[in-house]
Amino acid sequence: MPKIVELLTDTFGKNAVLPRAQAGTRVASNWRQNENLDCLALLLPETTDEVSKMLQICHEHNQPVVPHGGLTGVVGGTVTRPDEIALSLERMNQVEEINVQNKTVTVQAGVVLQHLQQVLAENGLLFPLDLGAKGSCMIGGNISSNAGGLQALRYGVMRNLVLGLEVVLADGTVLSSMNKMVKNNAGYDLKHLFIGSEGTLGVVTRAVLKVEDLPVSRSTAFVGLNSFEKATQFLQYSMKHLKNELSSFELLWQDYYSLMTSPPSPFSPVLPQTYPFYVLMETRGQDAGDGAVFETFLENALTSGLIDDASIAQTQQELDWFWGIRENVELIFSVHQPVFLFDVSLAISDMEAYIEKIKTDLQNIWADLHFYAFGHMGDGNLHLFVSCGHADHSTRHQVEDIVYQPLRQIGGSITGEHGIGLEKKAWLHLSRTAEEIQLMQTLKKALDPKGILNPGKIFLLTSL
Ligand SMILES: Cc1cc2nc3c(=O)[nH]c(=O)nc-3n(C[C@H](O)[C@H](O)[C@H](O)COP(=O)(O)OP(=O)(O)OC[C@H]3O[C@@H](n4cnc5c(N)ncnc54)[C@H](O)[C@@H]3O)c2cc1C
Repeated sequence: MPKIVELLTDTFGKNAVLPRAQAGTRVASNWRQNENLDCLALLLPETTDEVSKMLQICHEHNQPVVPHGGLTGVVGGTVTRPDEIALSLERMNQVEEINVQNKTVTVQAGVVLQHLQQVLAENGLLFPLDLGAKGSCMIGGNISSNAGGLQALRYGVMRNLVLGLEVVLADGTVLSSMNKMVKNNAGYDLKHLFIGSEGTLGVVTRAVLKVEDLPVSRSTAFVGLNSFEKATQFLQYSMKHLKNELSSFELLWQDYYSLMTSPPSPFSPVLPQTYPFYVLMETRGQDAGDGAVFETFLENALTSGLIDDASIAQTQQELDWFWGIRENVELIFSVHQPVFLFDVSLAISDMEAYIEKIKTDLQNIWADLHFYAFGHMGDGNLHLFVSCGHADHSTRHQVEDIVYQPLRQIGGSITGEHGIGLEKKAWLHLSRTAEEIQLMQTLKKALDPKGILNPGKIFLLTSL
């Protein structure tokens, strides 16, 4: 057994330190589930103090450590090499305090998002971050990736939901900033450094999160639209007329909708497959009469010709059906192999032309290409799936070049949600200036001078 693993086992015991063979029985990623972990050891701390002491030892021994949450990240942020140690927060899974009066919840980083939503719902509260991976992803992972999800339009992204944070730095220093207030301008707001830093600056151990009253109404509809322009006008109209209750506005291009509503998909179409665009929209409100208001709103939009078709979910079963069509992305991977996944951000006004351009450019090279687009239109964030029959390095680079390069001209971003990890670091310079990247590296050097925390992620080469 390597000396450091022996030392860690002697200090923390066999339950907290799994050596290579034992760690290797676990999957490396809950997203892919096609490989097992191959790392020096897997650490399973139960307290912040243990995280601190574990990092202290690793720091002293120049031992690289990769923080693990729910392993649902899709950019290789948790990839752990055979000579690295993984540190999972899964045993730090306590909801410590729910404060109904102050609308806050204090949690440990290993709490699974869906579990938190359920516990809060039992107390009449809502934690509004919501994403397809909610059954596995953990709050620490959500914070470290600044997750966005399905309700960001109304409630913001993870960054907007964190009031306080506890982080352990690379050398074991505990930085406790468990602030519970909305306003606190006493110097730098350091938590924002760690939110979205993908485990490269510190290990998130606990957090204070903002919660909302649990809505009493939920209205969901699929809408068919004959043009992108109509989708844009309908979004503006919805934001103006739905009393700030609009929580989701998801746009689906026809190809994606048709795939998701045809066999082997378990879902049948809600609306005919003939519309070039579909919107899945939802409102959440505090008034039992909201459903009737929503129905009238859609009737008016139909009568005035703003939208071309609509169907409202009437039962929980229909609600699951509607959302299933939007969220069943795994289907793409079962019918096409290999698939490249993108999550670009851009202005709504640029979306249609951008999608047309990259689709045409890709088809000019791969005539039998499969291309699917959908996403959080209201947030300017789209997910693209591209399958061109090959997955070798040069094909991947060519596809990425076509998808990413146009974003530079229109001021878009190569990632709206998923982050950089390993997969996108070669393209970081398209979305950040050289000065921004240099400052990021300076911060990394200041907080982790030995470069032991999640090495090689975000930045191309470690010039650290
Ligand atoms: C089906 C599906 C749907 C998804 N939908 C969305 C979506 O709508 N919006 C969205 O934003 N993302 C989405 N994702 C991506 C992913 O779920 C999110 O990025 C999620 O926030 C990751 O959480 P996790 O706990 O799984 O983190 P992990 O995958 O375990 O880790 C992600 C990154 O954070 C770091 N990290 C994890 N925990 C800690 C910690 N405690 N301290 C420091 N660093 C840490 C890791 O090193 C890694 O770099 C989706 C993924 C899937 C598979």
